[in-house]
Amino acid sequence: MKYYRYVRWIFLALGLTAVIGLTVMNVYSLYALHDNKVQSSVEKQKRQLMEYTNQVRSRFRYPVRTLWQLDMEEVKASLTSPSNVHEDLIVIIEQASSDSLFSDIYLSTPECTPCERHGDTIWHYQPEIGRFAATTEYDQLVSDGLGITRTRMNALVQDYQWNTRVIFDTHNSMTVALINALSREVVAYLLFVIDQDFLVNSYMGPKLAETFGTGEETGIIVWLHDWTRNEVLSTTAPEVTYSYQNVDFIQNFPDLLNNWNLKAAFTANPDIAASRASLTRNLFVLAGAMLLLIGAFVFMFFTAQRERSLAQRQALFLANVTHELKTPLAVISAAGENLSDGRVTDPVRLKSYGTHIFNESLRLRTMIDRLLDVARSNTKNVHIRKTQTHLPHFLQGYLKKKKSYLESHDVILHLDIDEKVPEIEVDQSDLQSILDNLIDNAVKYSPDGKFIEIRTSSNDRVSLMVKDKGIGIPKEFQKYIFDKFFRVEDALTAQTKGHGLGLSIVKDLTVRNGGTVSVSSSPGKGSVFTIRFPVTDSSVPHNDTSSHIQEQTKQQEPEHVP
Ligand code: ADP
Repeated sequence: MKYYRYVRWIFLALGLTAVIGLTVMNVYSLYALHDNKVQSSVEKQKRQLMEYTNQVRSRFRYPVRTLWQLDMEEVKASLTSPSNVHEDLIVIIEQASSDSLFSDIYLSTPECTPCERHGDTIWHYQPEIGRFAATTEYDQLVSDGLGITRTRMNALVQDYQWNTRVIFDTHNSMTVALINALSREVVAYLLFVIDQDFLVNSYMGPKLAETFGTGEETGIIVWLHDWTRNEVLSTTAPEVTYSYQNVDFIQNFPDLLNNWNLKAAFTANPDIAASRASLTRNLFVLAGAMLLLIGAFVFMFFTAQRERSLAQRQALFLANVTHELKTPLAVISAAGENLSDGRVTDPVRLKSYGTHIFNESLRLRTMIDRLLDVARSNTKNVHIRKTQTHLPHFLQGYLKKKKSYLESHDVILHLDIDEKVPEIEVDQSDLQSILDNLIDNAVKYSPDGKFIEIRTSSNDRVSLMVKDKGIGIPKEFQKYIFDKFFRVEDALTAQTKGHGLGLSIVKDLTVRNGGTVSVSSSPGKGSVFTIRFPVTDSSVPHNDTSSHIQEQTKQQEPEHVP
């Protein structure tokens, strides 16, 4: 049996652990799912950023995309004077010059070194006449761009397999080296001056908005940033001030616009926000379910503990009662045996044996009555026999029967009985048990001087009050004293015998008869137990001439037993 109890708890604990494990796994996968979603959304945005930079790169190359088709030998042969430039090259240059992205186009042969000697003659494309013309008037950025390309190509040209190579000088110019791949020599340099205003405001800015949307609600903010000057050239969210702390990702341009890059901040887009909301909702539900489960477990644990302790007390009670029943029985049977075999003939001893048998049988009866009370209060559907009862009359009869008990315990009884209380409908044997228990307790828990006051009164209900001046009940225990088997655990209570059943019987029987019971008590001063019964419709107020017993008994107070 013991085993089963432990196995039950082990299984319960295993079950709970499994549920907790499942919940933790659930939470983990919910988080992983959400993270995945965030991650894939971020990855998608990163791909978009890269795609954007590639598109910008293509945009630069588009006007010169057919340069590779030229016969570089022929081009070289045509570069004897600006007006002699190969017609195929002129066609391409003409198209490029119509592109607003480039403001000027220059041509330089490898022999000319404007980077070293700014002011050397180079050829400048004249769109109005569709020809190149020699010039010494050009911007420093032109000689810088040509110089950078020349240096790079000197290092590259021997291993280079293609016939064109594009090199950018930051955001200022784009130079295309025309290469004779067979002889591994540069034929000419074509420099395109970049119109930055057009590039930023008419191309990159609008393209940013078109690709990434505007405002924060798209889940990404992109800044086109000149990092050398720490200047924002264009942004998708003008309302958000740029700050390096907000930047989650930086995307550089491949091989071009070296001083510029894209800075991005990932914010929650509606998809992610919905996923986060669903995650939070799920977590709340899981947490609620867990709390419920743990609550149920704790509740089960405590109720099981309570039931166990109740069962233990019940077993103890049965053992004690059996033992207590045996004592008077042993006395009765010993005395009876002595009398029956005729050995006792002395009248004094005969009387003493008789008294013993009588007293012990009374003790036995009291015990059996108590047991019957317990059984009765435990039986929910027992048939009760309610009768119209006038409490003062009932008390008179009851106290008469109780006289010898009260006398034997030196009780000082004070009665304050209102004879006018209306009748109540109760089972009189229940009422007797209630009074027995309350009076027994008042006697038991009053070690110094047993003063008991019984009072009846009425307003909308009829009250019966039993008051003593005993040890009292500490406040913290008062809510438990009506529980089965509860006993106050202190030195004073320990001196008395009991099983903690009396008050639970009082409560059960009172409630069964439609009444309520309450206690008011203070340690060292005494206790007052009040039973209240409803006034029944058929109740009639009593108009007795001696309406208040208190007046009759007061002169005799304090009195021993009425
Ligand atoms: P028992 O008296 O057998 O212990 P009861 O159910 O009658 O069981 O009482 C429960 C507990 O309430 C007692 O153990 C005692 O501590 C306390 N109690 C009951 N009546 C009184 C009283 N009149 N004065 C002081 N304490 C009381």
